[in-house]
Amino acid sequence: MSSSKTLDEPLTYSTGDIIHEDDPYACALSSDVLSAVCSYCISRGTSHSCEKCKRLHYCSKRCKSKDRVFHRLECQVLRALGPEDDVLDEETRMVIRTLDRFIRERQSHSISEASFFSCTRTIYDLLSHIEDLSPSEFEQAKERAETILSIVSPFVFTQLEEVMDILQRCRINCHSIVDHNDFHFFSRGRAVYLAASKTNHSCVTSNEYVQIFNGRKILLRAIQDFRIDDPLQMTIHYMPPTLPYESRLRRCLNNYYFICSCRKCVWQARNPEPDQAAGETVAEIEQAFEEYHSSDEWYEIGTKLLEKVKNLPEKNFYVYWLLIQMQPTCFELGKYKESIEYGIRATNGAESILSLEPLFHYLCQAMVKLGWNKSSNPNHGRFAETYKLTKTLYSITHGSNHKIVQGLRKMRGTWWAKGSDKLYSFFRKQDPVDSQRVDDVRDGAIEVQ
Ligand SMILES: [Zn+2]
Ligand SMILES: [Zn+2]
Ligand SMILES: [Zn+2]
Repeated sequence: MSSSKTLDEPLTYSTGDIIHEDDPYACALSSDVLSAVCSYCISRGTSHSCEKCKRLHYCSKRCKSKDRVFHRLECQVLRALGPEDDVLDEETRMVIRTLDRFIRERQSHSISEASFFSCTRTIYDLLSHIEDLSPSEFEQAKERAETILSIVSPFVFTQLEEVMDILQRCRINCHSIVDHNDFHFFSRGRAVYLAASKTNHSCVTSNEYVQIFNGRKILLRAIQDFRIDDPLQMTIHYMPPTLPYESRLRRCLNNYYFICSCRKCVWQARNPEPDQAAGETVAEIEQAFEEYHSSDEWYEIGTKLLEKVKNLPEKNFYVYWLLIQMQPTCFELGKYKESIEYGIRATNGAESILSLEPLFHYLCQAMVKLGWNKSSNPNHGRFAETYKLTKTLYSITHGSNHKIVQGLRKMRGTWWAKGSDKLYSFFRKQDPVDSQRVDDVRDGAIEVQ
């Protein structure tokens, strides 16, 4: 791992290299996925449950036993609240899990450490910003901490200051965990990372590396060959970088207590974005995303709202937000051509390689549904191009052996699945030089009829 290198030597990375990897100090699933997602590795599938509280589920015995130590206090609290009580909300479970580990380590004098390159971090290094809270924010946080204290105090010894401190450290340092092992990129919950929390925010998307999640692990991965003198200068997004400037400014101040001075913010502060949606339309769009809608309802709502913002470019946050909702909605409804149209428009608004990936995956899927993957189809060229790009993107961010990349291979069509093994062994038996041709065929560089 490059983490052992010192700050003095420039670090070099090749495309696909893992730059940094970090396990969470604590993590908690969103309440709405608790029954469908493994509470340890965050993958889908829940064949095992905690037999004590019966509220948390796991994909395997192994995950269940790995989570035991992190779930201990949470389990006691859940049992005490009883089955008729609603499962504790996500933030409360997150704080309980963090507090549990913190108290255990405090008592045993073994504080966990994690390294971000030359920087060693413990829970004490995470900012809490308690001193920056306004009087009303302070009261709100104190009230929350009192509630949490009242439910955990029968089981552990702690005090209000400690609970408040952990609550604030969680609030400031939490990452939303996204399941990047699923092409849908679902949001799965939140986690606190000791080392990764060292990375600062910027609204400018790096074209050298991405931050992705592999299960509960967070990683930084190189998406091109590059060298960096000071890894502490690497940045991530604390919020979607496509949000309008004013919203980013507000979020930075309200949630993280700083004013972003990245080059995008500096530029936009002096040059207001020309393409803004009207206030009431923005409110309407935000409202639509706050409520649950069936695909049929979304189709109607999305069509209506997109009509209202039709003069704005795709890179406008709200237009983009609607487009990335409409693409899978139309796919679900079997409107594949529309799904492709929305998907292509959305790619114009995507700022990062990670936001492009699910768009391209859906594009391929819709094209397969329309039969464009068949070499006889007049649109086969468009499919082949999209497919190749999709595979390249996922191979870089996920590694070429990842199940998403393997799943993509199946989209090549039945002629490929049936014929590839025969073809492969045929070429292998020929002159070894020709085996390059097999790889070219596999990569789509040579068309096989
Ligand atoms: Zn699991
Ligand atoms: Zn339990
Ligand atoms: Zn910024």
